[in-house]
Amino acid sequence: MRSDRDLQRELERIDRRGYPAYKDLRGQYDFGDFVLSIDHVQGDPFASPSSVSVNVHNEVLHIPAGLWDKAHKRTALEDVLLRRFSRALAGCSMCAGGSGKSGVLATTCPGQEVLARSACEVDGGSVTFRFEAGLPAHGRTVDGRAAAKMLLDFVPQCVERTLFVDDGLLDQAWAAVDLADDQHAAREQMEAADLVAFVADGSILPRESGVSQRPLESALAFEAPAEQRVVLDLPHRGKVAGMGIKRGVTLIVGGGYHGKSTLLRALQDGVYNHVAGDGRELVLTDATAEKLRAEDGRAVSGVDISLFIRDLPDGRDTSRFSTVDASGSTSQAAATVEAYEAGARALLIDEDTSATNFMVRDALMEAVVAREFEPITPFVERVRDLWERAGVSSIIVAGSSGAYFSVADVVLQMDRYRVHDITAHARAVCAELAAPATPRAARFALPAGNRAIAVSPVAPGTDSARGDRGGRDDRGGRGARGGFGGRGAGRGARDNRIKVRTCGCEELQVGQGSADVRLVEQLVDPCQARALAQLVRIGAQAGILVQGKPVAKAVDELMALLDREGWRALAEHDYVACGLALPRPQELAAVLNRWRA
Ligand code: ADP
Ligand code: MG
Repeated sequence: MRSDRDLQRELERIDRRGYPAYKDLRGQYDFGDFVLSIDHVQGDPFASPSSVSVNVHNEVLHIPAGLWDKAHKRTALEDVLLRRFSRALAGCSMCAGGSGKSGVLATTCPGQEVLARSACEVDGGSVTFRFEAGLPAHGRTVDGRAAAKMLLDFVPQCVERTLFVDDGLLDQAWAAVDLADDQHAAREQMEAADLVAFVADGSILPRESGVSQRPLESALAFEAPAEQRVVLDLPHRGKVAGMGIKRGVTLIVGGGYHGKSTLLRALQDGVYNHVAGDGRELVLTDATAEKLRAEDGRAVSGVDISLFIRDLPDGRDTSRFSTVDASGSTSQAAATVEAYEAGARALLIDEDTSATNFMVRDALMEAVVAREFEPITPFVERVRDLWERAGVSSIIVAGSSGAYFSVADVVLQMDRYRVHDITAHARAVCAELAAPATPRAARFALPAGNRAIAVSPVAPGTDSARGDRGGRDDRGGRGARGGFGGRGAGRGARDNRIKVRTCGCEELQVGQGSADVRLVEQLVDPCQARALAQLVRIGAQAGILVQGKPVAKAVDELMALLDREGWRALAEHDYVACGLALPRPQELAAVLNRWRA
């Protein structure tokens, strides 16, 4: 393997040459403490920066195995290291100047969630960081001296600052890993105690602002009501008290602005683990829980929504409902059924973001507009059966309709940001007023859950998708065409590389297909969106996303592939780039369900 001195000589040799001379740098260099790998060289100074990685061996690091011997610990350790490395790089970025992106040094900067990311991988104690480097140029001429500064001074400094400077790194790592261990144990204990969610006393739920996920400083800390108080026994923090939400139907009521949506939001984010200092470290929700909402205009493909909607005026079959422009109620009905298919064991619903006619229908309306003229069976008439017959719990924020009182196992009231259990009170009031209980709708039959992918990933007339795996080397151009990510039929073999593009957490494009994910609220990180887009691409190329295969099965296969092969499975070229983060299977299903070919 070439050494850092060879890299130095190379840089001297190509100094002041045309920019493409940088291509010669591709490859690995032994720097003593680590190996630097120049994985991809940008075409010109204005293109996306080059992909670089460093690998530091555990013989140099001696990271105690206790920090990485379990998957959840490893992810926490990676998160700590990546935050440090990202900060170190930011300190040196643009210090070597020049034209275009010259001098850029950057990697993924994690948010409040702790997610497995391609930017940092710990493997058997060795650490790999992946990042982007804008190789310096004057105009379009190689600036070899600036490049030497960047690659031979700044990068080693960043590695040093991240891994070798003892400013409490080990304490930091142990704190994060112990927290992850506690979160892991808490989730196991929740499962054993039949809890869908747990909110520790002292948690800070509200966020700083609508655009910041940092905790609100002046917030009132959470305190569990006596009736819901449970105590978990965690390996590091010991006994932690908080509110346990039992499986079943839970209703959250309260006056406007009293903190209902804030609580629900914290619960929907509780499917992920959060970093220390977030305030929601021990706000944990069943990892399969799905936030449901109205999403006017979304695409729906072949979903059986007859549980909620049947006998549409245009005679359309709602047991295989497709549309390119759903209404509020049909979108929420589809989301509910899709969540069930995707294995959600809990549904989270906020009246603020729901279609009213999907949620409730009052007696007066029923008296005026007879039932046979109303295609919608509201959620309130199905929620008990969803729990009792399908084992799917619901947590519902409904501050404006009393219809949910009679179907709820537990009623919580938010009162000036404090939670109270008012189940008994609500029952007493309902009895006193002789309020009629909400009826259960007839004909509860859940869809089989094996809905097939409707859009053919292979356009008619082309050769079928081959079973071989694209992704490693899709430059040669193989894989399916048409539908999911496919290019048009009849293109030359060289031209069927599938283009992948994402726009934050808003849109995914793969080939000529796309999905609008703006309202998929539990897709929380743009790096997850990128990983999802790559999953769709390899799904198309590896013949997993084919017409007729059940969506749920395709999701399982893709997640298993990622689990088995790691980030390499999602690589577009022969290297893994930074910028990917692990999504949940639920979000992969959400993407596939919203796909527009
Ligand atoms: P609701 O859904 O009941 O109308 P929200 O959850 O939207 O109310 O909360 C209203 C406001 O109160 C938000 O600006 C939120 O940040 C703030 N808030 C919520 N919980 C707390 C808390 N525990 N301490 C301080 N402010 C809070
Ligand atoms: Mg609200």
